Amino acid sequence: MADDNQFKKVISHAKEYGYVFQSSEIYDGLSAVYDYAQNGVELKNNIRDYWWKAMVQMNENIVGIDTAIFMHPTIWKASGHVDAFNDPLIDNKDSKKRYRADVLIEDYCAKIESKINKEVSKAAKRFGDAFNKEEFVSTNPRVLGYFEKINTILTRMGNSLESEDLADVKALIEELEIADPLTGSKNWTDVKQFNLMFGTKLGASAEHAMDLYLRPETAQGIFVNFLNVQKTGRMKIPFGIAQTGKAFRNEIVARQFIFRMREFEQMEMQFFIKPGTQKEWYEHWKETRMKWHLSLGMGADNYRFHDHEKLAHYADAASDIEFKFPFGFKELEGIHSRTDFDLKAHEEFSGKKLQYFDHEENKSYTPYVLETSIGLDRMFLAVFSNALTEEALDNNTTRTVLKLPAVLAPTKAAILPLVKKDGLPEIARKIVEELKWDFNVAYDEKDAVGRRYRRQDANGTPFCITVDHDTKTDNTVTIRHRDTMEQQRVKIEDLKAIIKQEVDVKNWLMKM
Ligand code: ATP
Repeated sequence: MADDNQFKKVISHAKEYGYVFQSSEIYDGLSAVYDYAQNGVELKNNIRDYWWKAMVQMNENIVGIDTAIFMHPTIWKASGHVDAFNDPLIDNKDSKKRYRADVLIEDYCAKIESKINKEVSKAAKRFGDAFNKEEFVSTNPRVLGYFEKINTILTRMGNSLESEDLADVKALIEELEIADPLTGSKNWTDVKQFNLMFGTKLGASAEHAMDLYLRPETAQGIFVNFLNVQKTGRMKIPFGIAQTGKAFRNEIVARQFIFRMREFEQMEMQFFIKPGTQKEWYEHWKETRMKWHLSLGMGADNYRFHDHEKLAHYADAASDIEFKFPFGFKELEGIHSRTDFDLKAHEEFSGKKLQYFDHEENKSYTPYVLETSIGLDRMFLAVFSNALTEEALDNNTTRTVLKLPAVLAPTKAAILPLVKKDGLPEIARKIVEELKWDFNVAYDEKDAVGRRYRRQDANGTPFCITVDHDTKTDNTVTIRHRDTMEQQRVKIEDLKAIIKQEVDVKNWLMKM
C-alpha cells in the first residue's frame, strides 16, 4: 500500500540529517537531480562497497573495471539505444503534465490488482483457518474476471508498443477512461516516442564536433572491454566483469525523489557463459542476488520477484527484484539473460571479433551473458526508507530512529563525554583518536546526553559511547545500542572488538 505520509517523512529526514539535498537548491533546484550530503555519501559508499565485496572480492571469477562515461557513439547504435531506448509519452492538455503512457496503463492495472487483494482479504476473514488462497484466486469468478481484464489490457498495450501503434495506446487510455492522476482531466494529446539519452558534443569547433551521448547504462562499457579483460586477466568462462558508475537518462516522469533520477549510479555485473547454460545461470544469479539483499536483514516480506512476460529485444529471460518502497512494490534490481545479443552487435558494428576460445571444447564461440543490474540510488532509498522508524516509548514520547543495517551506517559510533568538564572531553577525544583508524566515529559534547542519544538515533549511528566520572577511575564506559537502547558497561580496550562484531562486512555477508 502506498504511504505518502511516510514517503514525505523520508524525504524531509534525508535533508534534515544531511543525507540527500536537492541539486542546485539555492537556484530552486534541478528536477530529478540530487546531491548526496555528508552522511549520504558515507551510506552510499558503504552500499557500493557491500556490493563490490560480495561481487568482486568474494568471487575469484569476477573482476571489476571502471570505464569512461563518454563512449564512441556507434556503441549506442549497436546496443539498440539510438533506435529503441524510448518511452511513450503523453501530455495532459489541461494540466500540462507529462506522463509515461505505459505507466498510466500499468497504474490502472495496479488498481484492479488491489481490488483482487481486497477480495482475498475479505474471503480470508470469512473462511478463517479453512481459507486456501490459491484455490480462491483460481476459482472465484470475480477475481478471475479481474485477472482476465488485467491480462487483456497488458497484452494489448504490449502488442501496440511492439508494433509502434501509438494511436492504439492512446485509444486504450481513452477506452479505459484513465484520467490525469493529479487533476482528473481526460483531455490527452497523442502518444509520442521519446528517446531517453542525453546528447552532448565532443570537440572544440562546431563543424568538427562529434555528437556523443552520456551513457544511459554502464553495461556497454563492459561489453566493449570483454576481450581486453578476458585476455589480460586470463579469464576462463564462466566469468564476470563488474562495474559501478554514473548513468544518465532523460526520464519523462521523475517525481519520486531518488527512485527515478536523471543522473544516477548503477552497479552492474555481466557474467559471460557458455551458450546453452543460460537457464541455470539465470536461476543461480536470481537466487544469489536475493540472498545478498536478505543478508541485510531488511525483511523477507519486503522483496519479491517479478518475472517479465514481455522481454526486451536482447533478452531470453528477465526478472526484477522488487522492493516495498513507501509508494509500493517497485523494481530495485534487474536480472537479465541477454543471450549473445550485445557481443554479436558489437562484432557487427566494430568489425572486430569478440569471441572466446574454449580450450576444453577446442572451439571458439560468442559467449552468452547473464546480467545483474541494480541502481545504487534506489538501493539507498530502499535502505533509508526501510530504516526510518518512529517508536512509541513507555513515557508517552516517540523517538525517531534510523535503523540502518549497522554495516552500512555512515557513523558507527558517537563518543559522548557526559559533561564538558572534569577531564571527560579529553578521555572521549582519546577514544575517538583510537577508534577512528578502524571506524567512522563522531564526537559530540553539545546538549544533555539524552538529547545527544536521540540525535544519534535519528542519524542511524548504531552505538553511543558515554564517558562519565567512573571512567576516570576504572577505564570503563557505557555503550548504548541504537535499536534496543540497551546499555552496557564495558572496558575502553574492548570497544573496538564490540563495534567490529556488529559492523564487520564479513559477519553480514556470511549470512548470504
Ligand atoms: P524502470 O523500469 O524503473 O525505468 P529499467 O527497467 O529501465 O527501470 P534498467 O535499465 O534495467 O532499469 O536499469 C537497472 C537498474 O538501474 C534498475 O533496476 C534501477 O535500480 C536503476 N535505474 C534505472 N533507471 C533509473 C533512474 N532513472 N534513477 C535511478 N535508478 C535507476
